[in-house]
Amino acid sequence: MITPFSIAHLPRIEFGSGAVRKLPDIAATFGRHMLLVTGARSFSALPQGAALLDRLHKRGLDWQTVQIAGEPSPEAVDDAVRRFASTAIDAVIGIGGGSALDAAKAIAGLLVPGNSVMDHLDGIGPQKPYGGPATPFIAVPTTAGTGSEATKNAVLSRLGPDGFKKSFRDDALVAQVALLDPDLLASCPPALIAANGMDALTQLLESYVSTRANPMTDALALSGLAAVRDGLIVWYEAGDTAAEARERMAYAALLSGICLAQTGLGSVHGIASPLGAFFPIPHGVACGTLLAAATRTNIEAMESREPHNPALAKYAQVARVLTGRASGGGPEDRRDLVRLLDTWTQRLALPRLAELGVASGDVARIVAASRGSSMKTNPVVLTDDEIGEVVAARL
Ligand code: NAD
Repeated sequence: MITPFSIAHLPRIEFGSGAVRKLPDIAATFGRHMLLVTGARSFSALPQGAALLDRLHKRGLDWQTVQIAGEPSPEAVDDAVRRFASTAIDAVIGIGGGSALDAAKAIAGLLVPGNSVMDHLDGIGPQKPYGGPATPFIAVPTTAGTGSEATKNAVLSRLGPDGFKKSFRDDALVAQVALLDPDLLASCPPALIAANGMDALTQLLESYVSTRANPMTDALALSGLAAVRDGLIVWYEAGDTAAEARERMAYAALLSGICLAQTGLGSVHGIASPLGAFFPIPHGVACGTLLAAATRTNIEAMESREPHNPALAKYAQVARVLTGRASGGGPEDRRDLVRLLDTWTQRLALPRLAELGVASGDVARIVAASRGSSMKTNPVVLTDDEIGEVVAARL
């Protein structure tokens, strides 16, 4: 029996080597005046950047630019909205990693309404409903990890002891067009490939075992996991010569975003949220370093108190996909999965949390701040002690 489910709307998706050449024609369907939101350095470092601007110009488009340094803050979004609220903007184009895309998504959402993004963040402040209208948003990712090109949320952070990492979320924020050109990823250095790849892998795995998973997202998540199996380590080790592996990871990241927008996530993202708010830890690094430990804890918690939880069979299925081995679907497969994730964590040189400034005295406040929206769709309700064990295991 197929349980009832719904899929919220998706962007129009253009995927493939050279796809970025379609950007001027696609953008022109929305009008002439663009707001280009990029990272602080990533766009100028893109070999394709200058040619792209030339093509936009030749297509008769004009643009203003906003550069976002680091992972975006509510203040960066509000500043851009204030600067451009009275300018005629027909579409917002975000080109960059998840940071630039999330900033572009939030700015596109608020250019017309003009209010502060703090009004709408999940779990903090007044949490007012968002009424739109959103300015059309075109997402052009240059990293393969966040899937932000397909999600309805923009993650914004304020760093520090009272910091937070929260989402501005609404169906109306989904990009009109996601333009994925794997060639734009050729300049990603290995550490970025590793962190982003583990982010995509985490999103696929957490969507697949989420309490809100459905048959359609399961099919997409499994396809994405197979792409990670064939792409991640090959791309990380071979670098920019591994065009096919790079394409697989761009595809995996896209699917991870499509899935997470429908199903929510799990304990890794629950813990990554305070880690990224209290410490300057890039999001993909936080996810990557926690994934094996959190998977082990989820599995052990279910084996000991919910042996019939359907997520146990799903973890075994993921082991079969990622190892490529046929097997019986039992506890041994789940051990294999955790061993494989541990091995990848080491091969991808993901740092331990202690190297990133986290100490054992920080565990309690990380646990206390970990029960945001992602934790709610974890396949098993973890105790505070179990969440603390995940963090402590990675110190
Ligand atoms: P990022 O956008 O912060 O970029 C990391 C670094 O990589 C930057 O220095 C950037 O300049 C550089 N970079 C980007 N593209 C490059 C390229 N092609 N070549 C060389 N360098 C390049 O990193 P990210 O991991 O893509 O995004 C992280 C952000 O995305 C976090 O804020 C995270 O919370 C958010 N996120 C959002 C969602 C969502 O659904 N909206 C999902 C997961 C993560």
